[in-house]
Amino acid sequence: VLNDDTAGTGRTDGRVIARTGPALGYQLFLPNGTSAATARRAGDWREISLGPGTSAWVPIAEAFPIAGPRPGSEIAVVRTRVRKGWSEVVLPLAEPLPFRLEQRLDPARYAVWVYGLVANVDWVETSIADPLIESVRWGQPENGVFRLDIELAGEQPWGWRAYREGAHLVLGFRHPPEALADRRFRSPLHGVRIVIDPGHNPDTGAVGPTGLEEREANLAIALELADILAERGAEVVLTRATPDSALGLYDRTNLAYRSGGEVFVSIHNNALPDGVNPFVHNGTSVLYYHPQSEPLAEAIQAELLPRTALDDHGVWHQNVAVLRMNEMPSVLVESAFMMIPEQEAKLRTPEFQREIAEGVAAGIERFLRERDP
Ligand SMILES: [Zn+2]
Repeated sequence: VLNDDTAGTGRTDGRVIARTGPALGYQLFLPNGTSAATARRAGDWREISLGPGTSAWVPIAEAFPIAGPRPGSEIAVVRTRVRKGWSEVVLPLAEPLPFRLEQRLDPARYAVWVYGLVANVDWVETSIADPLIESVRWGQPENGVFRLDIELAGEQPWGWRAYREGAHLVLGFRHPPEALADRRFRSPLHGVRIVIDPGHNPDTGAVGPTGLEEREANLAIALELADILAERGAEVVLTRATPDSALGLYDRTNLAYRSGGEVFVSIHNNALPDGVNPFVHNGTSVLYYHPQSEPLAEAIQAELLPRTALDDHGVWHQNVAVLRMNEMPSVLVESAFMMIPEQEAKLRTPEFQREIAEGVAAGIERFLRERDP
């Protein structure tokens, strides 16, 4: 049984990351409670066997051996349903089996492999009223490997999620915010729930040459941004609103998710880049991880650059914990460089903080306006 939070703190992301080899690249994100057959051990890593000739590795600290037969299940029906802004595909399993999900966008296609599952599928129940799911097909490419192919309408869903309901596996695809449907005569921000995350604390983040702490600058910008967004009708959620609230990375994403966030923006300022001269390579940048977040990153960068008047440091794909959240478009803004004396000095001024906040707000607005209703 896999679990990354045996103490039950609720302060992790609630899933175990399985990799292609010990300490190698990411392969599967398995919700806590997943059962898998174990194989070899190598140092701090445990191999779990998936299908014939397929395996993955999980940290030993997150894998708890139990005696019993190899986990397996049959499946007789696949259902879809619509729930509170999500279209979902439900796989009724007898045991919480490991799975792998692969996403292709434009048009949106999802392939899901479930290991240890034997198809005895009579039918796939889909609702013709479903606005997002166009088709669901299943197959059994290998002994004990079940494959599901899901086609969605449109280029990409607003977000997606894979979770367990008991032993059942649920794959959810999010509809655009309901508030966006009615945006002809008002700001597209109106009624959209936006989570603003002032980066760092209890850690200081980067510290500038004259001692400005990144967490301070981030908070000032975030509070300004929250005001602007609220004035334009958005429902704003701040992960922290005071200098003394201390949060871990997953506290931030869990809060974003639990509060029904529809857009997530983490506010940061940059430190020293690795291996390059910061006095040559610096400026404004926006990071994203999932492809559905890239348009948001591009829109914010486009609106932010003219306001910071700094160099274009680019829009980057980066594997950052808060950005791995896939339920909503999530980006991380690096407005300026703490380490450059002139930029640190600017970051201290309410005028520059306001400019950054205006730029991010305009970027979110632009992203929402450009999305198909
Ligand atoms: Zn930072």
